[in-house]
Amino acid sequence: MARYNDAVCRLCRREGQKLFLKGDRCYTEKCALERRAYAPGMHGQGRSKTSEYGQQLREKQKAKRYYGLLESQFHKYYEMAVQSKGQTGENLLALCESRLDNVVYRLGFAMSRPEARQLVTHAHFTVNGRKVNIPSFLVKPGMVIAIAQGSRDLEKLKQNVEANAFRQPPQWLEYDRDNLVAKVVGVPQKSDIDLPIEEHLIVELYSK
Ligand code: SF4
Repeated sequence: MARYNDAVCRLCRREGQKLFLKGDRCYTEKCALERRAYAPGMHGQGRSKTSEYGQQLREKQKAKRYYGLLESQFHKYYEMAVQSKGQTGENLLALCESRLDNVVYRLGFAMSRPEARQLVTHAHFTVNGRKVNIPSFLVKPGMVIAIAQGSRDLEKLKQNVEANAFRQPPQWLEYDRDNLVAKVVGVPQKSDIDLPIEEHLIVELYSK
């Protein structure tokens, strides 16, 4: 299945929530959801109440789109979540949060997750001192994430770090702002996720 390459603002409008896929623009009045807060398409303004299945499906789509995942990747995380100890829904979100592209975004090295994905692919970051260019790489407690030595002068990265100087990384990442290095000190918790995702609906959908 191909990656989604259409206008990403349509995804937010479809979910009725900001998914923050366009960086700066998401925080301005240019945000498409601010201007047209209804689903895209001919019947976007006339949609009726959704069924239970519809709600579960929307919740799954929202989570997938938030993290920029394909169905196969997201389902793989669900399978991993089922096999882990604890609540499946929370395990699922923790896996999504642990992706390297998400970590790069959370640390403020990128303005959006799509941009974080691109920066990781271009090998601008290291994990435990080694370059990693796989956005889906899952970080674990004890690992250290940093901007690669040769990328520290990259103008885009400098701008992002400056623009996000106010942003607080989640509790499970210990960020040394002066040296642009972060250590994973825990496992992502539901409270660390700033989008209202009702993960139990996703579990209900997949466990049918
Ligand atoms: Fe979503 Fe950002 Fe587009 Fe607004 S500007 S609709 S938050 S991607």
